[in-house]
Amino acid sequence: MRQPTVYLLSCGDELLFGHTVDTNSAWLAEQCTLQGWRLVGHRTIGDITPDIVSALLEASALAEAVILTGGLGPTRDDRTRQALAHALGVELREDPEALAEIQAIFKRYNRPMAEANRVQALIPAGAGRIVNPNGTAPGIRAVLRDAKIFCLPGVPREMREMFKQSILPVLKGAEGAAQEVMRRLHLCGRGESDIGAAIRHLMGERSNPEVGTAVAESIVTVRLYAKGDTRTEAERTAAEAEADIRKALGHDVYGVDDETLAGCVVKLLAERSASLVVGESCTGGLLSSLIVDVPGASSVFRQGIVAYANAAKTDLLGVPAGIIGKHGAVSRETVSAMAENHLRRTNFPLPAYSIATTGIAGPDGGTPEKPVGTVWIACSRLDPDGGGITRSFRLNTVTDRRGVRMRAANAALDLARRTILGYPSNYQVEESNWKKD
Ligand code: AMP
Ligand code: MG
Repeated sequence: MRQPTVYLLSCGDELLFGHTVDTNSAWLAEQCTLQGWRLVGHRTIGDITPDIVSALLEASALAEAVILTGGLGPTRDDRTRQALAHALGVELREDPEALAEIQAIFKRYNRPMAEANRVQALIPAGAGRIVNPNGTAPGIRAVLRDAKIFCLPGVPREMREMFKQSILPVLKGAEGAAQEVMRRLHLCGRGESDIGAAIRHLMGERSNPEVGTAVAESIVTVRLYAKGDTRTEAERTAAEAEADIRKALGHDVYGVDDETLAGCVVKLLAERSASLVVGESCTGGLLSSLIVDVPGASSVFRQGIVAYANAAKTDLLGVPAGIIGKHGAVSRETVSAMAENHLRRTNFPLPAYSIATTGIAGPDGGTPEKPVGTVWIACSRLDPDGGGITRSFRLNTVTDRRGVRMRAANAALDLARRTILGYPSNYQVEESNWKKD
């Protein structure tokens, strides 16, 4: 079976100097892999015409398709179209249809078109334009040394839409039947080495499927890449491996591919017609923000309170000052009171869940007993009969301020997921009963 080979080029000084992270390559690489196309390389280049020319020539010798992003803006520092014309050995020409589209976009913005934008209608002779429904820079399509070249604007939202509309169908037409399946399973609340040990038997080099792990902010992803002579066979191999992995890792798997932990929690709550409130100290709104990122969160998420100061924990969440005084703001007692008393103070539909976080994000404020990275996390449930449970645990992380907050938010969502489903945790979680009175 034939798989098109693809080379990715990212063009822009801001990428080369590290001011902007190259998310385009990551996204494009994932899209191509999902299609079963074989990536042969990625490269980042600055806005320097000879560098772009040599990168285009080199990439076109290595792959059947080259996707270049960036450098199609109206300013002098964007040089992709000139470089492509140079590599093709042709002149740039104004494309009347491209110009009409750019003029129409400005009409939609209700702004006059700047003369500078006219260069965006320039296309190398013999090349074609790729329609950009969301911006002023049309893309360019050409053939260089038998390789298909696709140049797209750098703006991620524009680039993604153009890839789906104009590149995907062209490359799909060039392939044989896809015979590779990529799947990712996501887990939280268990270490990567522990997970690696549990599925070690599946992780042989060049095995089918190839299985690997990656970790980011406490989320471990198990990736499996299955191959077969037909798509059906690859799907079957992937499904068998997925079942094996789920058998080994059980309750720890929360999602597949693009599913997020917050998305999983929202879905579980929606299925139960349950409410969710959040009381945050060290995560400072991050937890609420992850939840609100989920489309449809409004069906379950009722309120999020950032109670940073001790007095705010008392005033806004009803934590008795005496508890904070006796046990400290970063303690099991305080986090449990944050979660339970938040539910005591609200009248949202039941069952209702409450998540709370309080910890030391650093770099200052740590003590030998409570070092930087100590975070207490609680999840309470209030049932329609007025009874409920609270589960709490201490997370210890060693990372920077942003990392502590991210990991705490993920750990809190994972505790909520396990509490909703009645699953055990790999942490030392304490569970107690309480009553609303
Ligand atoms: P350009 O098409 O070169 O004018 O790029 C427009 C904007 O898109 C740049 O200012 C960046 O903010 C963004 N951008 C360009 N290339 C990338 C990339 N590879 N990944 C993420 N963002 C990018
Ligand atoms: Mg640029």
